Amino acid sequence: MKIIMLGAPGAGKGTQAKMIAEKYGIPHVSTGDIFRANIKNGTELGMEAKKYMDQGLLVPDELTVKILLDRVAQEDCRNGYVLDGFPRTIPQADVLDKALTELGDQIDYAINVDVPDENIVKRMGGRRACLSCGATYHIEHVPPKAEGICDACGQELVLRDDDKPETVQNRLNVYHEQTQPLIEFYSAKEVLKTVDGTQDMKDVFAAVTAILD
Ligand code: ADP
Ligand code: ADP
Ligand code: ZN
Repeated sequence: MKIIMLGAPGAGKGTQAKMIAEKYGIPHVSTGDIFRANIKNGTELGMEAKKYMDQGLLVPDELTVKILLDRVAQEDCRNGYVLDGFPRTIPQADVLDKALTELGDQIDYAINVDVPDENIVKRMGGRRACLSCGATYHIEHVPPKAEGICDACGQELVLRDDDKPETVQNRLNVYHEQTQPLIEFYSAKEVLKTVDGTQDMKDVFAAVTAILD
């Protein structure tokens, strides 16, 4: 099963993608996590990506497409995957589509997690991230057991630089301009499913599994 998560930054794509990955036994592939791991390790890719990420801009398609195609070509992705944060532009979606078509394959579901902008800004200020293992928390909705510490790996949690309010607004503008057109793109392919992302996360997941089961 090959699944794409669509939705604004902070809509809950990552949260749902992790639950999908666990329930259906497929890898969770997040381009944002791959970039952040590269930044943390000080790679050339990481340093290049950081310039854009810190401003709330998209990393250029050339860089992003290459890392994504390399990742989904790995053995563990053979039976499917859930993509979180890719594609984010029409050109990225076209490249993925062509790569899959060449393999006689296609995306099964594009799940749009729908959350209005007003809710997003509130949510992002409360998000805390573990840059070691990629786990995500929320100070109100998903607090860690010990304040500021990752339950999974014990590392310190951070407010991502790009989750600060000024950058969140830029990211929302970028989302509306460059990413939202993908809703129409996947709707035309008849794989689009929309869920109400303002619900409690377990209710969102129930709506997701009702689609996938
Ligand atoms: P969120 O989950 O909050 O939407 P991500 O972790 O997916 O954020 O992405 C963080 C940042 O990484 C984005 O704002 C962007 O700069 C970069 N990024 C991630 N995925 C892509 C992509 N597919 N294309 C371009 N840039 C990307
Ligand atoms: P995305 O990957 O779309 O950027 P995340 O999954 O990281 O979004 O979620 C953004 C923030 O909102 C996180 O702090 C997360 O814990 C929280 N969150 C996710 N889903 C919900 C929900 N349904 N209700 C309230 N908060 C949520
Ligand atoms: Zn961790």
